[in-house]
Amino acid sequence: MAVQHTDFDVVISGAGLVGLALAAELGRDGFRTAILEAREPLRDWPADTIDLRVYAISRASQRLLERLGAWPAIEPLAQPYRDMRVWDAGSSGEIHFDSAELGEPDLGHIIESRVIERALLDVVESLDSVTRFCPARLQGFEAGDGEQKIALEDGTSLTAGLLVGADGKQSRVRDLAGIHVQVSDYAQQALVAVVTTEKPHRETAWQRFLPSGPLAFLPLHDGRCSIVWSATSDKASALLALDDEAFCHALGEAFAYRLGHITHVGERALFPLQGQSAKNYVQPGIALVGDAAHVVHPLAGQGVNLGLKDVQALAKTLHSAREQGRRPGALPVLRRYERARRGDNQLTLATMSGFKQLFGSTLAPVCAARGLGLKLFDRATPLKTQIMRMAMGLGGAHGDRF
Ligand SMILES: Cc1cc2nc3c(=O)[nH]c(=O)nc-3n(C[C@H](O)[C@H](O)[C@H](O)COP(=O)(O)OP(=O)(O)OC[C@H]3O[C@@H](n4cnc5c(N)ncnc54)[C@H](O)[C@@H]3O)c2cc1C
Repeated sequence: MAVQHTDFDVVISGAGLVGLALAAELGRDGFRTAILEAREPLRDWPADTIDLRVYAISRASQRLLERLGAWPAIEPLAQPYRDMRVWDAGSSGEIHFDSAELGEPDLGHIIESRVIERALLDVVESLDSVTRFCPARLQGFEAGDGEQKIALEDGTSLTAGLLVGADGKQSRVRDLAGIHVQVSDYAQQALVAVVTTEKPHRETAWQRFLPSGPLAFLPLHDGRCSIVWSATSDKASALLALDDEAFCHALGEAFAYRLGHITHVGERALFPLQGQSAKNYVQPGIALVGDAAHVVHPLAGQGVNLGLKDVQALAKTLHSAREQGRRPGALPVLRRYERARRGDNQLTLATMSGFKQLFGSTLAPVCAARGLGLKLFDRATPLKTQIMRMAMGLGGAHGDRF
């Protein structure tokens, strides 16, 4: 029987996409890493089904997945989107982003969460330096002499120089560490579903701002679209309760029939929407990454992308610390990670909240200004290019940092 190690450089709690990517990064760099996950991952699924969790993955995230060796398994199931069209129900403004204008082959890819997860899991399992504990749930931890003593619910004890909370927006690591989290309730829920449209999606990501919230159609590799319809909680619940025919009709109308009629809808699900920001990302021996540290509105599809930037920043910080002979859990080391990431994450959080308020208004002057603003913005090619490159993680204030 293989001996299971219990002493690690880093223990990561949570094997969502962010935790798995971090385990792959650190494992490839030779850190003795453990990753804990409460639920069994999905490895197989019927060929004609699509996960309800679908992400717009930026170029920067794609590069990370390529570097980690996960991209070849993802690419055949990834739909590139080459155009993006954003318009407003309350005014005549519209913005068009075109990959050709940027000299890029595409603006990003739409990919199912489970496809990325499986590919990252394969990478992690190929690394001798990484040990997976699954199903395993973190119960508690205690700071010792330069190390964390970590207890799992099944009674296993582990030790690590650093414990990373990659355990999502209800992070247990964050709560146990007593790190305060600021929550902004958007009073909205996102309804997600996979739909068939009368007209082809033309490899375009579409988003219409309605007074009740944004409605996005994301192109899928099998020709269908994944929709994310953010609306007030009452409206979202009412949409969920409609029968399929009435829902398709309501959706077609809300989308101004841009892709013709909606001919089929699959299972529908609601996700409550909140903005969250942890007061600190780090403590001695503790670091938070991904949704454990920050949760943004999904309207710009940035949550996973920001989490993957956290991964690169933390991995780079730990790598430099090891070269300087410093402990991974030392507070000055971890503060470098926090400084590198907090500004970018806060900026995205604030921008998304601002967008939500701006486009949620039905006041006539706001609508008129919005329409004018969108039209002017659409013609301001250098600014448009700069913003799109930032969204792709390719440049701008923080994009090139890691
Ligand atoms: C409707 C919607 C659409 C979205 N669209 C996009 C998009 O297009 N692009 C994008 O980039 N982002 C998008 N996001 C955001 C994205 O879903 C999140 O940012 C992302 O899932 C965060 O990943 P994570 O790994 O940090 O956390 P999670 O995915 O929440 O993973 C946390 C993991 O930790 C495990 N865990 C929790 N507690 C414990 C414990 N005590 N012990 C062990 N394991 C534990 C959980 O089981 C889970 O697997 C969207 C979000 C929503 C709601």
